[in-house]
Amino acid sequence: APVVVGLDLGGTKVLGLALDPDHSGSEPLAEERVPTPDGTGAVLDALAGLADRLRTQVRDDTGRDVRAVGLGAPGLVDRAGTFRYGPNLPGVEGVALGAELGERLGLPVVVDNDATCAAWGEHERGAARGRNHTLCLTLGTGIGAGMTVKGEILRGAYGFAGEPGHMVVDPGGPACPCGRTGCWEVFASGTGLGRLARDAVARGDAPTDAGFVGRAGGRVEDVAGEHVVAAARDGDAPALAVLDEYGDWLGLGLANLVNLLDSEVVVIGGGVSADADLFLDRARARVRDQVLGAERRPRVPIVPARLGARAGAVGAALLAALRT
Ligand code: BGC
Ligand code: ZN
Repeated sequence: APVVVGLDLGGTKVLGLALDPDHSGSEPLAEERVPTPDGTGAVLDALAGLADRLRTQVRDDTGRDVRAVGLGAPGLVDRAGTFRYGPNLPGVEGVALGAELGERLGLPVVVDNDATCAAWGEHERGAARGRNHTLCLTLGTGIGAGMTVKGEILRGAYGFAGEPGHMVVDPGGPACPCGRTGCWEVFASGTGLGRLARDAVARGDAPTDAGFVGRAGGRVEDVAGEHVVAAARDGDAPALAVLDEYGDWLGLGLANLVNLLDSEVVVIGGGVSADADLFLDRARARVRDQVLGAERRPRVPIVPARLGARAGAVGAALLAALRT
């Protein structure tokens, strides 16, 4: 049977893998990660090269051929497979990714939003399997979302549905790469965790010579989510307080989304979801506080993703299998 390739284009790296769609797991036949280069031409070269190498590897290892390629891209992807705009991928705008890649590879290429791909991966092979009304968030550089309604992806009129990262939750808040201020993703994405920590230092709520700043080499401007997590694992009180604040921001947005969607399950993916035990209870409590009629409705399970860093690429591959 033919094999499909899935590519997950991120702001810093591209993950590619080859998958047997008839096999029910998410273990890839081949996998490779490359850095995301600057500029449209270089990005296309990187994507095509990656897909090509995976194809060759699968052919050498198993004698099977690749039938189609799926690509998840971090922004607005229209139904024709054109990447219109992504706030965290400057320099790539209005590019017909599907057509360009398809031509280079001589294969059908299906393009969708990165978080929509991840949501489909979790729906088919992960934490949302067997559920109909699902919401899956990807917390990384930004916040992405994918939703299913009656088991099918919710796309909206033009394919752009599901951009909760840019719901403004604090109009006077910090600037977002999209040009607005106080978008949800400046607080509750993976990079948002680092920002909350730096803000805590600026308020005098965390020391500059220990804890997460210490772990960032003493440079406040270098503090990122990973430093907060490491400090929290050692019981550092300011780090734990930042994670509580993070859980609150996450829960606030989630409650708004549950009010809108009435989801059956909410899946939390992306890099920080590996450390969900440090903030998810707080987010769950916040959702119970904020959602309409909490005592009079079932409690929506909020669970970590199961496919980890592979969710987007696995979902992209499965979408390609489905649509070609
Ligand atoms: C973009 C989304 C994307 C998400 C995750 C957001 O800033 O608007 O389209 O899915 O980041 O990459
Ligand atoms: Zn924004």
